[in-house]
Amino acid sequence: MNLLDKNVCIVTGGGRGIGRATAEKFVSEGATVIIADFDESTGTDTADILGEQCTFIKTDVSNSDSVKSLIKHVKEEFGSIDIIVNNAGILQDQTLEKMDEEQFDRVIQVNMRGVYLCTKYTAEVMREQGSGVILNASSVVARFGNFGQTNYVAAKAGLEGMTKVWARELGKHGIRVNAIAPGFIKTDMTAQMPEKIIKMMGEKVPLKRWGQPEDVANLYCFLASDEASYISGAVLPVDGGVVV
Ligand code: NAP
Repeated sequence: MNLLDKNVCIVTGGGRGIGRATAEKFVSEGATVIIADFDESTGTDTADILGEQCTFIKTDVSNSDSVKSLIKHVKEEFGSIDIIVNNAGILQDQTLEKMDEEQFDRVIQVNMRGVYLCTKYTAEVMREQGSGVILNASSVVARFGNFGQTNYVAAKAGLEGMTKVWARELGKHGIRVNAIAPGFIKTDMTAQMPEKIIKMMGEKVPLKRWGQPEDVANLYCFLASDEASYISGAVLPVDGGVVV
């Protein structure tokens, strides 16, 4: 018996990084996984590697028509949507004085509006089913702020707020809604930083290492499973203790 047997799960941004590790973990626990990613080549490659339990559907989470078509397709082809991991996210860092309006808007569109759209249309299906799990990707910076990340921090803090609203609104339909807040995780998103900064940040973590995508995937898997059946409205850190 696996933790996610017979579950149909959507992982947005599942082509690489944390999303890919999550898709892999969910498949290993018996789930059918739909990778909803913008990038066709990484999405298809990941789905091919993960085998027949995994499918790729090209999706732009910030576009309403694209999200509606994803949800319709999954419902028609797989019959249910049991779990969605709203993982897709981007960075466009800049200090306030240099951040232009387009950079602000784009990060809000993908990281916050994208989560709103995916949850809105998935929740319609979950309400009908009377069950479901929604998991949102926040970050430690939502609570503490971060230099150069006005747009990103605004989106992640907004996402944590929406998580709590949806836990209240959807609980009576048997739907659990939680967010996770990773610290420093080694992916393409963070690989752009200078080596010196990467080393310095690793030293700040009480566990003295950067997290791996699998560290986050394991928490998603627990929260998605029935082992977390009384957890909703929570924001759980997976950060090696960095916020202590
Ligand atoms: P990543 O390696 O950059 O992967 C992000 C994925 O999201 C990519 O596959 C990307 O596709 C996809 N994506 C971007 N825009 C999209 C859109 N409009 N529609 C659909 N998919 C889209 O990032 P990561 O490090 O794994 O991070 C995953 C999540 O965890 C993000 O929400 C991030 O904010 C959060 N997080 C990460 C860290 C960390 O240290 N890495 C820490 C805290 C929180 P493309 O290939 O087309 O870009």
